[in-house]
Amino acid sequence: MKKERRSPILVTRSSLAPFEEYEELIRKLWDTRFITNMGPYHEELKKSLTEMFGRDTELFVNGHMALEMLLQALDLKGEVITTPFTFVSTTHAIVRNGLTPVMCDVKEEDGTMDPEKIEALITEKTCAILPVHVYGHVCDDEKIEAIAKKHGIPVIYDAAHAFGETVNGTPVAALGDASMLSFHATKAFNSIEGGCVCFDEKKQPGLADRLYKLKNFGITGKESIEYVGGNAKMNEFSAAMGIVNLRHFPQWAAARKKVYDRYAEDLSGVKGVRILRKRDDVTYNYAYMPVVLDPAYFDRDKVYDTMVADGICPRKYFYPLVNDCECYRGVLPAAETETPVAYRLSKTVLTLPIYPDLPLETVDEICGYFEK
Ligand SMILES: *Cc1c(COP(=O)(O)O)cnc(C)c1O
Repeated sequence: MKKERRSPILVTRSSLAPFEEYEELIRKLWDTRFITNMGPYHEELKKSLTEMFGRDTELFVNGHMALEMLLQALDLKGEVITTPFTFVSTTHAIVRNGLTPVMCDVKEEDGTMDPEKIEALITEKTCAILPVHVYGHVCDDEKIEAIAKKHGIPVIYDAAHAFGETVNGTPVAALGDASMLSFHATKAFNSIEGGCVCFDEKKQPGLADRLYKLKNFGITGKESIEYVGGNAKMNEFSAAMGIVNLRHFPQWAAARKKVYDRYAEDLSGVKGVRILRKRDDVTYNYAYMPVVLDPAYFDRDKVYDTMVADGICPRKYFYPLVNDCECYRGVLPAAETETPVAYRLSKTVLTLPIYPDLPLETVDEICGYFEK
């Protein structure tokens, strides 16, 4: 199986617009010397995304700070029902706001929050539900939002993986009371580092203003600082990257779909390998290629080690689960007993390489590791 390679095949590669397009935009920054603090590129990207999502948008330096400041802007207190099957950022944003995360288990078939398990976790302290569209698998939004409505609590999505997706034609970013998206270098769409909050100012008057001010130290006027804010502004180099990359996003999603389809074809009928379920009413961005390996057929860690030794680098996303990370061990209830489905998934999932120009022959080669 081992082949000589010049460089390893990583789980993803940053998608970049042609250099000349970026150069053209950033050249102007040397003339204007306006390189941060909500400059023209910041405003242009914000406008494009607002149109794309059909909702209000506020840009941030990254997705994590967008979520942290969104929770602060909503002035939440108490418990937040969330999922452990995610990147630690989701939980960190909750805890760093002085809120208590309450872990809800996920669905075996797609790894998203299991709506059947939410109501048992709701207490008088519950102030929000924070599900994650993990791997771009859109949550059971209707069921989750019906539960939230019944109890009068908001739904805030971590949509870091769901850029550009739609459900029944509606942008996924526009679901819930608000959503956070990430434009990190490794995500479906990037602005080097970056992120945004997508929300509905009509339903939450004043939220746009609070988000805008919180990301700039809470400054509300030349001589007034009304909020204990931070610094989470997107700079002009990032915004320019976002502008040029946005032009190419549809092609990239289409190219990744070809890679995804090849995996699906190669792996169909392979015993012990399960591809997570996708919804029929969603158009996906195909940024991730997670497979779940049945321990009766494969030892996930051994498969991983073998591939890495051969220069193919999948990832064990999401392992360990958040509740098993050092900083939460003993603080949050143990994953094995509290969220057994997520626990099992984390021990058997492997996220395979996928990016627009991944050669289909490489996909075939990777799938070769699952032949018995
Ligand atoms: C990437 C990611 C984040 C954080 O976004 P950054 O832009 O990297 O700060 C949050 N949640 C999830 C699920 C992510 O994958």
